[in-house]
Amino acid sequence: MTDFDYDFFVIGGGSGGVRASRIAAGLGARVGLAEERYLGGTCVNVGCVPKKLFSYASQYGQDFEDARGYGWEFHQAPTFNWATLRENKDREISRLNGIYLSMLQKAGVDVFQERATLLDRHTIALGDRRFTAKEILIATGGWPFVPDFPGNQHVISSNEVFSLEKLPTSIVIVGGGYIAVEFAGIFAGLGVKTTLVSRGDRVLRGFDRELTDAFTVELQKYAALHLNTSVEKIERRGPDELLVHFNNETTIQTEAVMFATGRKANTHDLGLKECDVALSESGAVIVNNHFTSSITNIHAVGDVIDRVPLTPVALAEGQILAQRLFGTSHKAMHYENIPTAVFSHPNLASVGLDEKGARRKFSNIAVFRSRFTPLRHTLSGNDEKYFLKLLVDKDSDKVVGAHMLGADAGEIIQGLAVAMIAGATKADFDATIGIHPTVAEEFVTMRTAS
Ligand code: FAD
Ligand code: NDP
Repeated sequence: MTDFDYDFFVIGGGSGGVRASRIAAGLGARVGLAEERYLGGTCVNVGCVPKKLFSYASQYGQDFEDARGYGWEFHQAPTFNWATLRENKDREISRLNGIYLSMLQKAGVDVFQERATLLDRHTIALGDRRFTAKEILIATGGWPFVPDFPGNQHVISSNEVFSLEKLPTSIVIVGGGYIAVEFAGIFAGLGVKTTLVSRGDRVLRGFDRELTDAFTVELQKYAALHLNTSVEKIERRGPDELLVHFNNETTIQTEAVMFATGRKANTHDLGLKECDVALSESGAVIVNNHFTSSITNIHAVGDVIDRVPLTPVALAEGQILAQRLFGTSHKAMHYENIPTAVFSHPNLASVGLDEKGARRKFSNIAVFRSRFTPLRHTLSGNDEKYFLKLLVDKDSDKVVGAHMLGADAGEIIQGLAVAMIAGATKADFDATIGIHPTVAEEFVTMRTAS
C-alpha cells in the first residue's frame, strides 16, 4: 500500500463519506477526504437537520392554538420571527460542522476543504495538488433537480429554502415527494399561504395508499392541493410577485415557488467518465453488491448510487464498504425493512411492505387498521385524525408492514422496525402489553382484521 499517498481517498464529506473515512482510519488505513462545500453534507447543512428544526418551529403555531382547550389564555396572538429561527439554525449547523471536522481529525483523517476530481483511477486532483490513492470512494451525494421550462430561474429548491432572507407570504411548492410535503407543512405552519402542486394523482407515491389518502385529508386542512398538474411557465410580475401558469390553463399569483421534484446524482465533471466508471442514464454510479464500480478500486455509496437516498442508508453503506476494504468483515447491505419517516404535518412513517406489495408477495394477507382522534385532541378541539395499519402474512403470522400517520410516527415505527427485523409475528404483537395511554399501544391492541 505504500506506493500510494493514501490507502483510501474519499470524495465528499457527507453522511456516507464521513462514516466510511472514520471507519477506515479506525482500521489503520491512511485516509484523505475532500469536501468542497460543507462538512456533514446535505443532511447536516440543507437536509434532515435544518428541516427537522424548521418542522419543530412550524408545529408551535398549532400547539399555541391547541393549548387554549387546556386552559391556556393569551390575549395577543403569538408572532413568529423568521430571522431568529434562521440565525439560531445557522448557529447550530456551524457547531455541527465543527464537530464533524474535529471528529475526522481525531480519527486521523486528512481533511481537504476543497473540490476534488479524478485524473485517473488512482490520482485525485485538488486544485494544483495531486494525490494518489489505492482505493477511492465517490460519496458526492445528489443535487436538486429542477425541470427545464420558461421562468425556472425564478424558483428555489431545498438548497435555498433554508437561508431565505424573509419568509414569503405565499408559496407554491411543486412535487409530491418527501421534500414537497414536508415543506408544505413547514410553510403552512409558519403562516404562509401554501399551495402544493403535484403531477401525479396522489402524493408520496410508493407509500401505502391508504396511509397517504389519510395524510392527504389532513394536508388539505392547511394547504391547497392541485393533483395531476404541472407548471408550464413562470413570469415575474414584481419583486414579490410571480405568476405561475399550469398545464390546465389556470394560473396562481404567489410570492415564491419551490421545486421539490427529486434529486440527481452529483457526478458531473468529476472525471468519472474519463476513468471509465460506468454511470446509469440518470448519472448515478453503478455499483455491485459490494459498492464497487466498473473500475475495481473506485467505489461509491449514498445518494450518488441512487438506491435508497436516506442518511442512515448512506451511513450503513459507507461502514460496510470500509469494513470490507480495511477490516475482515464481509457483511452485505440489506435493503428490506428500511424504516422511513416523512416529517410532514402530521408525521407519517412506514416499515416493510405497503398493502399492494404485500398482496403481490403473499397470497393470504390480513390487514389491521385503526383510525382515531388522539386523546391529546379531545380537549384541544383539533380535528386531526391518526391512522395506524399492520399487514400480516396469515400463513406465517409474520408482520410484513407497519404504517402510521400521527405525531412522532417515526419514533414509534423505529421500534416496530426492530421487531420486524427480529421476525415478530402478530401473536408477538398481541402478547405485548401496551403502554397506556399512548398512541403506540394501538399497535398491540388491534384484534380484528378487516
Ligand atoms: P451528501 O450528504 O449529499 O454528501 C455529499 C457531499 O459531497 C456534499 O457535502 C458535497 O458538497 C460533497 N461533494 C460533492 N462533489 C464533491 C467534489 N467533487 N469534491 C468534494 N466534495 C464534493 N434523509 C433522512 O434519512 N432523513 C431526513 O429527514 C432527510 N431529510 C432530507 C431533507 C432534505 C431537504 C434533503 C435534500 C434530503 C434529506 N434527506 C433525509 C436525505 C439525506 O440528506 C441524504 O440521503 C444524505 O445526505 C446522503 O448522504 P451522502 O453522503 O450520500 O451525500
Ligand atoms: P422524491 O423522489 O421523494 O419526490 C419527487 C417528486 O417530484 C415526486 O412527486 C415526483 O413525481 C415529482 N417529479 C419528479 N420529476 C418531476 C418533473 N419533471 N415535474 C414535476 N414533478 C416531478 O424527491 P424529493 O426531492 O422530495 O426528495 C429526494 C429524496 O430525499 C427523497 O426521495 C428521500 O429519499 C430523501 N428525503 C428524505 C426525507 C426523510 O427521510 N424524511 C426528507 C426529504 C428528502 P412522481 O411521483 O410522479 O414521480
